[in-house]
Amino acid sequence: MAVKADYYEVLGVSRTANGDEISKAYRKLAIKFHPDSHPDDENASLKFKQAAEAYEVLSDAEKRGRYDQYGHAGVEGGHRQFSDAEDIFEAFGDIFGGGVFGDLFGGRGRTRSGRRVSKGADIKAQVTLDLEEAARGVEKTITFDRREPCETCKGSGAAAGSQAERCTRCGGHGQVVQQAGILRVQTTCPSCAGAGVKITDPCRSCRGQGFQNRRVELDVNIPAGVDDQMRVRLSGEGQPSPNGGPAGDCYCFISLRRHKLFERDGEHLILKMPISYTQAVLGAQIEVPTLIDGAHMLTVPKGTASGEVFKVRGQGMPDPHGRGKGDLYVQTYIEVPKKLDTRQEELLRELAEFEHTNVSPHRKSFLESIRDYLFSSGDEDEAVKEK
Ligand SMILES: [Zn+2]
Ligand SMILES: [Zn+2]
Repeated sequence: MAVKADYYEVLGVSRTANGDEISKAYRKLAIKFHPDSHPDDENASLKFKQAAEAYEVLSDAEKRGRYDQYGHAGVEGGHRQFSDAEDIFEAFGDIFGGGVFGDLFGGRGRTRSGRRVSKGADIKAQVTLDLEEAARGVEKTITFDRREPCETCKGSGAAAGSQAERCTRCGGHGQVVQQAGILRVQTTCPSCAGAGVKITDPCRSCRGQGFQNRRVELDVNIPAGVDDQMRVRLSGEGQPSPNGGPAGDCYCFISLRRHKLFERDGEHLILKMPISYTQAVLGAQIEVPTLIDGAHMLTVPKGTASGEVFKVRGQGMPDPHGRGKGDLYVQTYIEVPKKLDTRQEELLRELAEFEHTNVSPHRKSFLESIRDYLFSSGDEDEAVKEK
């Protein structure tokens, strides 16, 4: 364990400093090293905690006496371990009451009166889109349930004719200060749970809560290019804060409907396109659909095999952050007709006849391998099976 710094040195005051000087010195350091001004700075955070610890001891006459006499050993275990800035405010909040600290750090999680507030809960909503809508971007109306101010009591929580009364225990601050020797500790008011007001005659529609669940409709702009599982954040459209803080957010989760023709793969689209045997063999110009730009002419070259892929540049999905567009991949497959008319059959039989006498080179070598395989010795056959 590291040697502890001297509390007087930590605060930069003389050993004879009075309470006022100690208080001032601490306030200066607390502002200088406040975590809000030094996010992720371990050194500042340590200095901030050291100052709080030193102040806790030196501002208490009894503890200070023991410290002067026995050093750190005299106050060991007697002081609290501060884990974060909030703890320190809980303990010493009142020495900053308004003034410098209120102005500097009042924005975070506190109201002007110093009441601690929390953000409302987030809400999840679902939006289902067609692939075309995802490609173009679209405005959608979503509906969800949210706690809204009660219509009967206008959010006050008090029944008609009555009023929410200021909490007498905390005087409306929502916090009470408890005195323990010289140290004053600030905690959430146990009487009003931090709300600052008490309702004596609760509204019957909302049972005094001031809120009711109501269906909300919102128009959402969905940017072009969104994909399944992406979410669009609607800032401040979530649940209201229970104690005067900011509302939560609403997150719209996107899901895409399957498309009849196109399959999506990230920024790219895939289209399976049937071609005929003769188109594959002889080559052809074919019309392929694109998702939003109509038909596109594609050249299928002579001798295209089943499963070959052709790229149509720029006909994929747009990037949701505006960085260009993906491509459309057209994968051909050869469609074998199930029925033939007489003329077709005649022609194909003629072709078959021709192929019988003029075997193509790949087929020829393949047929030869089959022959070798079938007429090889039975021993080898067994050996293969056993493996
Ligand atoms: Zn009400
Ligand atoms: Zn209260």
